[in-house]
Amino acid sequence: MRLRGMLLFLAIAAGIALIGCKDDEVWRGSGSASFLEFDSELTPAEAGQVNAAMGYLSARTVQGENVRWFREIFGGVDVPALLGFLEQRLHYILSGNTKIESRVRINAEPVVFQPRQESLLSEEDDSGRGATNLASLWFLKKAVEPEKLQFVINDQLISVESTRIGIIQLGPAFVTAPPPIQVGVLLHEGRHSDCTGGIWKSDILRTREGEDPLGVSCGHLHARCPVGHEYAGLYACDEEAWGAYSVNFIYWAAVARTCTDCPEEERVLTEAAALDAATRILVDVPAMVRGDFGAPDMTSSTEVQPR
Ligand SMILES: [Zn+2]
Repeated sequence: MRLRGMLLFLAIAAGIALIGCKDDEVWRGSGSASFLEFDSELTPAEAGQVNAAMGYLSARTVQGENVRWFREIFGGVDVPALLGFLEQRLHYILSGNTKIESRVRINAEPVVFQPRQESLLSEEDDSGRGATNLASLWFLKKAVEPEKLQFVINDQLISVESTRIGIIQLGPAFVTAPPPIQVGVLLHEGRHSDCTGGIWKSDILRTREGEDPLGVSCGHLHARCPVGHEYAGLYACDEEAWGAYSVNFIYWAAVARTCTDCPEEERVLTEAAALDAATRILVDVPAMVRGDFGAPDMTSSTEVQPR
């Protein structure tokens, strides 16, 4: 997740209905995990893939007690802990086809984003995106206060009370990814639901001006990967310890190293994925694993810090 220019010149357009085109084929069932609500625009293919990922997660054994920091990140060492981690952080699943701006309401009215803002709402490079956590809606909510920001899911107005609202939009790459990668994507998005230490007052003001926040720990925002990096120029790196790519790194390393009922191909795949995640962590990873940056702080806050 990143946030860029979401709020430039937001206008409230009373009486203008912005209703997204609905795909004829929409999912009408429910998620296999009881804590997930599927939006009505989710396609059967997307819903099927989320269910497949959750099924995979539940079916495989991991031995988190053998992986450093697994317990601290996920709150336990086994599959129920992973499910508990997701349950705290993921609640609504949106289709990649859904126009996010059409779902935002301020004082129950649709919001008009200018064309430039709409392009800023989407990622520069969309094709490789697994999913996006809309935790930044909480930044917007804080920025428009005292006006009331809500989000429409299944024709209901949802209040955005914290970054833990857990609205996840699937990306184009999610449906074609193998299940162990999909699970990693969901856990990664979960970390974006944590506003660790609260939000800076100055970042609320920056959001109001359409600028990116400077603090990264609220929402664990990504940094641009540096020149020479495989993902140079993309917001696909972490400048902090224990951000979303660190969650990927620990989970995939756990599958690669401790899953006894995973076929060899899954262990090879997750080993490569863990290494890829590690290259996106711009702090010294061996030092992070040694504990030089302290233990992961997995808490979330709605406090506004006075800086
Ligand atoms: Zn991310």
